[in-house]
Amino acid sequence: LLDATGLQKSFGENKVLSSIDLRVNPGQVTALIGPSGSGKTTVLRCLNGLEQPDAGTVAFDGGPQVNFGSRTSRQQRESLRTRSAMVFQGYNLFPHMTVLQNVIEGPVQVQRRPKAEVIAEAEQLLARVGLAEKRDQYPHELSGGQQQRVGIVRALALRPSLLLFDEPTSALDPELVGDVLTVIKELAEEGWTMVLVTHELTFAREVADQVVFMDGGVVVEQGPASEVLRAPREERTRRFVHRLL
Ligand code: ATP
Repeated sequence: LLDATGLQKSFGENKVLSSIDLRVNPGQVTALIGPSGSGKTTVLRCLNGLEQPDAGTVAFDGGPQVNFGSRTSRQQRESLRTRSAMVFQGYNLFPHMTVLQNVIEGPVQVQRRPKAEVIAEAEQLLARVGLAEKRDQYPHELSGGQQQRVGIVRALALRPSLLLFDEPTSALDPELVGDVLTVIKELAEEGWTMVLVTHELTFAREVADQVVFMDGGVVVEQGPASEVLRAPREERTRRFVHRLL
């Protein structure tokens, strides 16, 4: 579904991604794990076109290969944005819009889909995550867990081929984490393709097919979740995994 090769990204002098290769098969859940600052969020942002890599390529099935460099056009980068949708650590809902308005904004304003159809779909999605009755409330009237479930619905409403989750539960109080993880697990079981940046290794072990361990801007180890989390080959992975599992 997705093939990224040789992704590089620096912020000034700080080389955050040295050369990242990532392949995601349809229906597969990839957990991206690694220490704080290792570049995980930056990888997601590059895949989504929110950040422009300095070099490398990204291609989705059936789409053009985007070659990053100084001459990458905005249009090329934006072609990536329609293929995936991101669920953010801090929810990033628009505070002045109701739940429903948040969910329909992208499909209506950016994708130009018929409003009535989008609303009907949004209502179904909200009902699915137990938030049907919250549709006319504002984000600040919801708990963190509810806001994040709206964040997930907003991503689904874009009908992306790939869902990107950036530490979706790390801003939540512990008692609210479960509800959000349950929704993510259901989506995985339904066959959604997703890349999940997470520190919840127990959860990663449950849902992920593939685990990618990053450290210092490189992929140190990647493979089937059962192997990388249970029997890491690399010493760095072993130390990281043992600390968190
Ligand atoms: P965490 O687990 O803490 O979220 P991470 O692995 O997701 O970390 P990134 O958020 O990708 O790591 O950040 C990697 C490095 O890139 C950090 O040193 C960070 O300070 C730097 N960085 C990220 N975004 C920017 C930016 N827009 N401008 C400058 N530096 C940035």
